[in-house]
Amino acid sequence: MSFNKLNLSPPLIQAIKEQGYNKPTPVQEKAIPLILQGNDILAGAQTGTGKTAGFALPLLEHLYTQAQPKKPHPIRALVLTPTRELAIQVYESFRIYGKHLPLFSEVVFGGVNIHSQIKRLQRGADILIATPGRLLDLMYQKKVNLSHVQFFVLDEADRMLDMGFIKDIRQVIEVLPSQRQNLLFSATYSKEIKQLASQLLVDPIEISVARENTTAENISQSIYALKREYKRELISWLIGDGNWQQVLIFVRTKHGADRLCKQLMKDGIRCNALHGDKSQGARSRALEGLKKGKITALIATDVAARGLDIDQLPHVVNFDLPAVAEDYVHRIGRTGRAGAEGSAISLVCPEEAHLLGAIEKLLNKQIPRIADTGYEPVSLKVAQKAKVKPNKTKQKNKYNNKGHKTRSNSHRKTGKRN
Ligand code: AMP
Repeated sequence: MSFNKLNLSPPLIQAIKEQGYNKPTPVQEKAIPLILQGNDILAGAQTGTGKTAGFALPLLEHLYTQAQPKKPHPIRALVLTPTRELAIQVYESFRIYGKHLPLFSEVVFGGVNIHSQIKRLQRGADILIATPGRLLDLMYQKKVNLSHVQFFVLDEADRMLDMGFIKDIRQVIEVLPSQRQNLLFSATYSKEIKQLASQLLVDPIEISVARENTTAENISQSIYALKREYKRELISWLIGDGNWQQVLIFVRTKHGADRLCKQLMKDGIRCNALHGDKSQGARSRALEGLKKGKITALIATDVAARGLDIDQLPHVVNFDLPAVAEDYVHRIGRTGRAGAEGSAISLVCPEEAHLLGAIEKLLNKQIPRIADTGYEPVSLKVAQKAKVKPNKTKQKNKYNNKGHKTRSNSHRKTGKRN
């Protein structure tokens, strides 16, 4: 199917063309016509499926084809997102798709000065993208008027509930006009999501594009089994040897993110860390740095990386395996967006064998192992059996006294970036 068949106005089609999108993704193909018809929607779609355009395009179309209000424009569409990063990404999407339309978008989120946001809101906006906490602040201060909202979107609703936003969401819903179209996007359907959906949505049409806990086929996954102490060296080597330009590396802790960042910098790799202790400004700069090619590696914790959208991200590395198997699916979903090829590499030490087991059980398949990691082989069968006996056979010569092949310094040259 082509975008031309979706009944979108020429300025939207033009913007889509300029973005280089050839055809709608499955969620767009399903959601756009239903939203244009005015239905409430319950959509099961993860980040990476093109869901943002799936709601942004039809909402822009609705707003554009209505009689245009006088300036300053009242807020007619409200999108709630769980994180500031996602709020910014959704805002950028509205701006990109709506760039040939006489409509205005604004974004508000916590962690930054509220006064500049209040000033910007005073100029008027047709579409407001917000995180719940900051929106409530603005509501209490009577600096935002939601009495003209006709379209309400809850994006990544499951994440919002996980993050404890349910009360905030209810408070926002209370002030919205009762006559409105509601769209709820969620990667998973828990009991809580279904309950929220039944309260929020009127005769919703349910659409679903990806089965839960499946990974896209266009992402090549692999496992490097090695001792924990060689992980840092291997990652430097992979980046240098593969001449990687952009990689998102997941670690389990904030401290681990900072430490790895320092170590990779010593290896000449431009990198930054993204985690919850960083200020909003530092987080935005880190993300922009990766997007614009100023840094090669962004090292992130799961919470900080939620909802991140980096166009064409070619590599994701799990430096540590996630403690929760479902997070593996979310992590590697950062690459291979909208059908592009991506690689997801996990560095797994024997102590993480049980986590790998849980992930493979969830995926219902074995992730291919790299046969020759360049390091002393280790077993990932069970953590207790992981102790590797000193290798006394002729293989011994292959490894130096630290147990890894003698390529270790080669990355120091190739790892450096200009
Ligand atoms: P999302 O699931 O909304 O986070 O979108 C994931 C990525 O897919 C974004 O980088 C979009 O720019 C991209 N995208 C959205 N729709 C399309 C499309 N029809 N064709 C190609 N890329 C798309």
